[in-house]
Amino acid sequence: MKNNLKLLPLLLLCLFSLLACDFVSRPSAEEPEGETAPPTAIRPAITTPSGVTYGAIARQHLVALCEDIGPRLPGSQEEAEAAEYIQAAFEAYGYDPQVQRFAFANDDDEELESANVIAVKRGASPEEIVVGAHYDSVDDADGADDNASGVAVLLEVAKLLQDVQTPYTIRFIAFGAEEADMDGSHYYVEQMDKAAIENTVAMINLDSLIAGDITYVYGGAGRGSLRDWIINTAAEAGFALEARTARQLDQPDGTPCDCADYDAFQEAGIPFAFFEATNWDLDPDAMTQVDPNLGEDGKIRHTEYDTLDYIDATFPGRIDNHLNVFITLLYDALTRFTTSN
Ligand SMILES: [Zn+2]
Repeated sequence: MKNNLKLLPLLLLCLFSLLACDFVSRPSAEEPEGETAPPTAIRPAITTPSGVTYGAIARQHLVALCEDIGPRLPGSQEEAEAAEYIQAAFEAYGYDPQVQRFAFANDDDEELESANVIAVKRGASPEEIVVGAHYDSVDDADGADDNASGVAVLLEVAKLLQDVQTPYTIRFIAFGAEEADMDGSHYYVEQMDKAAIENTVAMINLDSLIAGDITYVYGGAGRGSLRDWIINTAAEAGFALEARTARQLDQPDGTPCDCADYDAFQEAGIPFAFFEATNWDLDPDAMTQVDPNLGEDGKIRHTEYDTLDYIDATFPGRIDNHLNVFITLLYDALTRFTTSN
């Protein structure tokens, strides 16, 4: 952000209200069809007491994943390099990451190997919130939006939470092979026993965060809903955030959309919240993320336009704004949400 000095009083007010207010969650009684939260004005970037603006660390991870490593096809050498990079980042932040390897078959039925990289932060309760983002990509471009952005937000929040007390234990998982068939997240959930599933309060999925026009949170609505808590927190803090219910993402027969890493968790009965930036106003399937004259008919992900250079040049300020919105909301949720809120 530029002109931060002029905005200093406003920033301090925002920061104070964020830190001091004990927001009361007002979950809706049921999941209404077609509900979306009204858009609110974009607020300026939050600056931490140490003077660091949320998103600066994520930006460094984006550059490393997109430009130093590049496309990260499932099972490729580059995907393995990205896993090593994420493992090293967790270690640098004081975590003891575990690498969960798994085999999967690609479209040509070749048997390949990928891995989930897992880091756990102990909280006041042994009950867990899983925060997940896939680090692989298709081979069309650098996979900046899809999904270096999710991993970058996950890593920055892991760093921010390093020495912060959280109500729940946080399990950060960078999933491999999402672009194959969401193999990493499915493998992870298959390895969970009944006790581990019951011990998981919620799963937060981060996927495609920096290109789309509008910032969203999706998930189940109603009493104790993490999605509803996030919507209320965003509204009170003045963030632009729209919403969709879990039901709106489901297939017509009610099964999960089979389109992102939260699916396996939802099928196991674990509530989820899913952060994404796209534009549902343009397209009922939300595949059109931006003006259809831009990108490839309005698509950035899975196209040659999914690079930091294109997104920065076409939408100045968007990457940093979106990173800031999602990091702040994720940080808030992990430090303040409880199912009894
Ligand atoms: Zn993705």
